[in-house]
Amino acid sequence: MNKPVSFIENGQLRIPAATELGFDPAEMRRKYDFERDRRLREEGAAQYQDIEDDLHHYNDDPHITAPVERAPVTETIEVAILGGGFGGMLMAARLHEAGIRDFRIIERAGDFGGTWYWNRYPGAQCDVESYIYLPLLDETGYMPSLKYSFQPEILEHAQRIGNHFDLYSRAFFQTQVRELRWNDAAAHWKVTTDRGDVFHARQVVISSGSLNRPKLPGIPGIRDFKGHTFHTSRWDYAYTGGSSTGNLDKLRDKRVGIIGTGATAIQAIPHLGASAARLYVFQRTPSSVDERRNRPTDPEWFKSLKKGWQQERNDNFTKLLVGAAVEEDLVNDGWTELFKSLGELLDGSGASNLTDAELKLLGEIVDYQHDNRVRGRCDDIVKDAATAQALKHWYRPWCKRPCFNDEYLPTFNRPTVTLVDTSGKGVERLTEKGVVVDGVEYELDCLIFATGFEVSRATYTHQAELEIIGRNDVTLGEYWKNGMRTYHGLMSHGFPNLHHMGFTQTGYTPNFTYQLDKQAQHLAKVFADLKARCHVAIEPTLTAEEDYLALVMAPNAMTDYLASCTPGYYNAEGSAKANNDGFLQGHYPEGGLRFYEMLAEWRAKGDYAGLVIR
Ligand code: NDP
Repeated sequence: MNKPVSFIENGQLRIPAATELGFDPAEMRRKYDFERDRRLREEGAAQYQDIEDDLHHYNDDPHITAPVERAPVTETIEVAILGGGFGGMLMAARLHEAGIRDFRIIERAGDFGGTWYWNRYPGAQCDVESYIYLPLLDETGYMPSLKYSFQPEILEHAQRIGNHFDLYSRAFFQTQVRELRWNDAAAHWKVTTDRGDVFHARQVVISSGSLNRPKLPGIPGIRDFKGHTFHTSRWDYAYTGGSSTGNLDKLRDKRVGIIGTGATAIQAIPHLGASAARLYVFQRTPSSVDERRNRPTDPEWFKSLKKGWQQERNDNFTKLLVGAAVEEDLVNDGWTELFKSLGELLDGSGASNLTDAELKLLGEIVDYQHDNRVRGRCDDIVKDAATAQALKHWYRPWCKRPCFNDEYLPTFNRPTVTLVDTSGKGVERLTEKGVVVDGVEYELDCLIFATGFEVSRATYTHQAELEIIGRNDVTLGEYWKNGMRTYHGLMSHGFPNLHHMGFTQTGYTPNFTYQLDKQAQHLAKVFADLKARCHVAIEPTLTAEEDYLALVMAPNAMTDYLASCTPGYYNAEGSAKANNDGFLQGHYPEGGLRFYEMLAEWRAKGDYAGLVIR
């Protein structure tokens, strides 16, 4: 643990000596750069293997027990919503509240839930506090059982929202949209599905998720392994036994391997470690794993909450994350702690005029202090010194999803669990029998891919698995081939009445449902207003789109930060294209809170500046 040190003296920045700090910042920066550089790959995101053709089964839905049989439907509707995860559901709920009932939700899965429908791996949990993550708690009156909910409770809540807002009667499950085609004369989208349905929709909202399509490592031999395999987002309980709470009893006599040590893997590994005869964890880059500190909800506290509490709590969280002043940190957890540390250091210090460069340096040192504490947990918990060392992360907190878990590190003290660290290189290849690292073959009965999801705006059509044909027969895939192009992150020139709910080019906050709800509320108000004014189409002008892009793509503090990061999907695997293609790049510069205020102000003016209205 680092002693508190003072960084400000007489209002000026003071960088303490390495002996006082307990580390040398320059040395630390060199170590981080070294760890990044040895992971950079020429091929960037192209290193991954698509799950196409004979690998397509990695994308199949293991949760559908009874395929739905139904006749094709032809309908004219006001809004078609693509995706039945929290985004699509919030959109539907907010339309319902705005008096628009003429909508359909089209979803590939067998039920609502999105991420939480697909990701049922053991230990799956949301690392954002349930009181702000689970949407519509005020409206449904539901009290989450824990501060951090596990997957079954989150999926159940999605179903609760479906029932509460009567969404099941307006949803088509096990149905995949194949094409969206704009009809300019009629001012509507023709939505066609793999079941022969045709919907003529005035507005289309796409909320198909940004982490929806599993990816595999592009290593030699990926098709050769003869044992059992699956991806974490399609967990095969028929093979492992047990459930999302663990007890994977069918693995008692199995040698299991897992590739990947990201946010998903660190939640699943404790359960695999507890059940498998042998577990090999193949690691390329360690995750930063801090304490979880979960706890049951106090019913008395929950009863005491007044209407509007959830919005207030969410605003408080979002404010803290952009460094705005709040009277109290209501969520008060690992996320807010990370954002607060720099502010707390400066508060009351008398430092009011530090330069950007000084603030940047201070931020870096504060991050190193934080990282040192988290790395210290490896030494405190993991008994084998070499394993503890290999489990330490060497990148700053926002380079990858920060993880919080109390069972992950102790799992490596089990005699049946082996960490196979690949020194940043990744696994070499697969054989019929198992996985090869540094020329050593690890024989396995089962290999689990915790290797994440396809994330690249440039392959939008591929990732969303549908073709979108706008005005003048231009496809969205073509239009975005050099990166996503939007106005407000929501619409694109040439694609009238088409709205994207999501993350990139909007205002950043780690609570994704907060963003989705704000976007849903915004769009519902816009649709209701357009309908009331008998307008049939809206579309951003090219100039408005260009101006907005210039704003969100301008280099900012985050651009530098991500360039210093170890590769991952946040920075397009560290590639030079990162500015266009990175998941975290291209965000509203003033942050999540201001972004939604800006949308509200824009809406309130009533002239829909930047849009052509018909
Ligand atoms: P990630 O993309 O974060 O992780 C993929 C993992 O696979 C990384 O450890 C990666 O290593 C590893 N990998 C890829 N290729 C190879 C290879 N050739 N050899 C060895 N290892 C390899 O996917 P996740 O599913 O873990 O997480 C995706 C996102 O889902 C998270 O970032 C988070 O946003 C979300 N999530 C959220 C949770 C929550 O609590 N809310 C829980 C779980 C996930 P490397 O790092 O070197 O690329």
